[in-house]
Amino acid sequence: MPENTRPYAAHCANHPDFDSMDSCSDCGKPLCRYCANKFYPPLCDVCATARIGSECSRSYKSLWMMVIGCIVGIGLALSLKLSPSSAVLLTLIFTCVPWGWRTLTAITPAVFLVLPLVGWLFYFASKFLLASLIGIFVTPYQLIKAAKGLHHMKNMESLVGRDIV
Ligand SMILES: [Zn+2]
Ligand SMILES: [Zn+2]
Repeated sequence: MPENTRPYAAHCANHPDFDSMDSCSDCGKPLCRYCANKFYPPLCDVCATARIGSECSRSYKSLWMMVIGCIVGIGLALSLKLSPSSAVLLTLIFTCVPWGWRTLTAITPAVFLVLPLVGWLFYFASKFLLASLIGIFVTPYQLIKAAKGLHHMKNMESLVGRDIV
């Protein structure tokens, strides 16, 4: 980017005395090398807070869906009067669906999001089916990933608002 189109970009947004070395990955605010090293990827405090919020709520949402899936699975198994082993399997499948769903969401190309309504129904039905198939396998991995993510967000949270220069 040419120097003259960003006259204020030469200095850190938090420290006017320091030259900017990098910029916030989300909003492009100029950051000095201290501010740029605070988070990975480089983020300003405002964007870091936003990322922490959305990442935490995403993980908590999946955990809640897991509880709901478990309840639905038990309810379904009871109403279908399944044998104990099938009931456990069904409950397990429903409990793990949210994590299978989350895995698929991460790898689903955005092109599917422009489908007409019938396409959407088909998309959700097939995604649900796939999510229930892969859920059991990806849940342990996804749970560890979510726990690590939440831990990382807690670390990030402790850095927000702190001046590390
Ligand atoms: Zn920012
Ligand atoms: Zn700075």
